[in-house]
Amino acid sequence: MTETKPIHIIGGGLAGSEAAWQIARAGVPVVIHEMRPVRMTDAHKTEGLAELVCSNSFRSDDWETNAVGLLHEEMRRAGSLILAAGDHHRLPAGGALAVDRDGFSNEVTRQLAESPLVRIERSEVAGLPPESWDSVIVATGPLTSPGLSQAVQKLTGEGELAFFDAIAPVIHRETIDLSIVWFQSRYDKPGPAGTGADYINCPMTKLEYEVFIKALLDGEKTSTKEWEASTPYFNGCLPIEVMAERGPETLRFGPMKPVGLTNPHKTSERPYAVVQLRQDNALASLWNMVGFQTKLRHGEQVRIFRMIPGLQNAEFARLGGLHRNTFLNSPKLLDASLRLKAMPRLRFAGQITGVEGYVESAAIGLLAGRFAVAERRGLVPASPPETTALGALLAHITGGHLSTDELEQAAARSFQPMNINYGLLPTAKVSDHDASGKRIKGKEKGLAKKRAVSLRALADLKGWLAAESGAQAAAE
Ligand SMILES: Cc1cc2nc3c(=O)[nH]c(=O)nc-3n(C[C@H](O)[C@H](O)[C@H](O)COP(=O)(O)OP(=O)(O)OC[C@H]3O[C@@H](n4cnc5c(N)ncnc54)[C@H](O)[C@@H]3O)c2cc1C
Repeated sequence: MTETKPIHIIGGGLAGSEAAWQIARAGVPVVIHEMRPVRMTDAHKTEGLAELVCSNSFRSDDWETNAVGLLHEEMRRAGSLILAAGDHHRLPAGGALAVDRDGFSNEVTRQLAESPLVRIERSEVAGLPPESWDSVIVATGPLTSPGLSQAVQKLTGEGELAFFDAIAPVIHRETIDLSIVWFQSRYDKPGPAGTGADYINCPMTKLEYEVFIKALLDGEKTSTKEWEASTPYFNGCLPIEVMAERGPETLRFGPMKPVGLTNPHKTSERPYAVVQLRQDNALASLWNMVGFQTKLRHGEQVRIFRMIPGLQNAEFARLGGLHRNTFLNSPKLLDASLRLKAMPRLRFAGQITGVEGYVESAAIGLLAGRFAVAERRGLVPASPPETTALGALLAHITGGHLSTDELEQAAARSFQPMNINYGLLPTAKVSDHDASGKRIKGKEKGLAKKRAVSLRALADLKGWLAAESGAQAAAE
């Protein structure tokens, strides 16, 4: 019998550790190449695998009505090491899954080190891996070492690997007040993929604009870490509050310019300024605030952006931010099983694929590991259904994200890192009445919808897992 060649994983963080576990438990050998402690990053402090670099929380653990809780549950059902170790080292934190960071990381490291199919090599992969590595998962995270990131950038093209994210808030469409806003592209231009009515426009009077600018200037901002400040990121993605500091009219000549737009609700009144929202996913359930990348604190973003007419009840799927990050323009570069189209022996996982967060990074590691195993066995990797949180996240990074903007500067990128949220999953229909015939409204209706989406997700996940193990068994 010939020996199965190992799958190589570069990076033993959240994604790399989970991918390695999935591969080893399927009976395939795996080598993890982790550069710590030989070379450290600016954020990691230990040599442990799956080190949590900042908060110790995996966020809500409520699978019924919270999307990240649903992702936890799906990962548990798919045999996740990250979730098992998290559950084992959980700390009291209300509805959140918070963990003892050292206990958690030590357990992940121990479990992998003790697996006979896992080898851990402590060295940096400082360029493209040797050609003899025929199946590689690159899971080097937001702080990928420069040697490797430069090699990847050379392969993908300069504009396709970013070193900073510039995240504008994303809003659930159903929370936007359609009696105030209207759909229109500037000068009604349809562009290559649009209709001429592709943007949601939020109008402001002079007074509303002035009050808004003052709120932006006074709003509390997050601090910039020293090593972040030394990375130049400002061209083309200035935070909105920094633009406002340059002068009261700067935003009116930038992302809030009112030209080429007519408010059908008030045709005789020209808006003084306009905030535009652009469709952010193929389902059209999420809309991002164009040009509104910001370092305002999250609470301040909610307070200040709800001052915008039409957004007074907005619910945010993601809040804005600017961080040092390393991530690919995945919808363009990766195929459906996370392989780099330009070099299919390389598969990517974790934050570098454009997901955001510990759990999401580990989730993509879980999928990358399973896809690599299927490929090793000569099977075509099957993606989880898009009705599951795993499938929705994967679909977002490999193709579901959408930009119809032709007016944006050529250099600007529309794909930005994303957390899991219900806006990425197709909605589910729920009855207007409960079992006793009482009408369900408002918040209760919203919760009922989330529950229905979650229940459907777990049922569909079961089918995917069963089909996957059936295919693997037949291939062995
Ligand atoms: C400062 C900071 C704070 C964050 N805080 C949070 C938070 O509080 N909550 C949250 O949910 N998310 C947070 N994130 C985002 C993200 O979820 C985490 O960074 C997460 O660890 C990403 O998982 P990953 O596996 O993709 O990368 P990582 O966990 O960073 O793992 C990547 C691994 O690859 C190694 N590596 C890098 N280059 C090479 C190379 N060339 N050769 C070999 N090894 C290499 C690194 O040493 C590291 O161990 C934060 C990110 C940063 C940068």
